[in-house]
Amino acid sequence: MIVTRFAPSPNGSLHLGHAFSAIVAHDLAREAGGKFVLRIEDIDGARSRPELADEFREDLAWLGLEWDEVAPQSARIEHYREAAGRLQAMDLLYPCTCTRSEIAAAATETGPEGPLYPGTCKRREIDTSQPVAWRLDVERALARAGPLEWADALQGVQRADPLALGDVVLVRKDAATPASYHLAATLDDAADGVTLVTRGRDLFAATHVHRLLQALLGLPVPRWHHHPLLLDADGRKLAKRRGSASQGFGLADRRRAGEDGVLLAEQLRLHRFPADISLGDA
Ligand SMILES: [Zn+2]
Repeated sequence: MIVTRFAPSPNGSLHLGHAFSAIVAHDLAREAGGKFVLRIEDIDGARSRPELADEFREDLAWLGLEWDEVAPQSARIEHYREAAGRLQAMDLLYPCTCTRSEIAAAATETGPEGPLYPGTCKRREIDTSQPVAWRLDVERALARAGPLEWADALQGVQRADPLALGDVVLVRKDAATPASYHLAATLDDAADGVTLVTRGRDLFAATHVHRLLQALLGLPVPRWHHHPLLLDADGRKLAKRRGSASQGFGLADRRRAGEDGVLLAEQLRLHRFPADISLGDA
């Protein structure tokens, strides 16, 4: 059975890009007689606003979607700790105390997600009695896992290339948010039985790391569907941090203004977008 999911973080209201993503996931499951799952990714402690989870549910219902909801990330902290402990026991993690600006200053290469971590802390003694992040030693992990592949519904079979993202953080320095997106999302998709991971094209590169984590942790390997992103008038993807939810593209605002959500969903399915919105390349 096909199981897809929509996994928003309650750190800001949803916008049309989220609606498009949720609809793609929902429809791929429904067309195959499968299951569509909602998961609230609420471990970003400082920025998480629990009340937004209810807003998200109202938005999805307004779009005419039906879902099964699974446990939020905040209920799974122990699960993340246990998995990080296993990677640690395999000697695949190393502590890092670098700040964002230190990394930016030391980086000589840029990866798909910004300055590439130059491995500074891999080569020095770190006092782990202070708060530290734990990074995956990707080279060592790859040597253990061997060559890996994964399949994208739109772009075909990919050779996993996690080195492109460098030694990613798996356990954050912030004790309240112990797992990084990479670790938490990979574990959650396995725990939720997700067989087709649908998400935006912007997370394509992250999948290389997720595939590696699946191999290391003995998790089932789903298929992926990285859909194109909705772009604004400047050709940039809609993003919460740029205020896309408050520039007329916000779902809750449109819902409260009386727009017909089911009709909006139909339009998005047909790739008929509001003015100033277009669909990027797959
Ligand atoms: Zn470091």
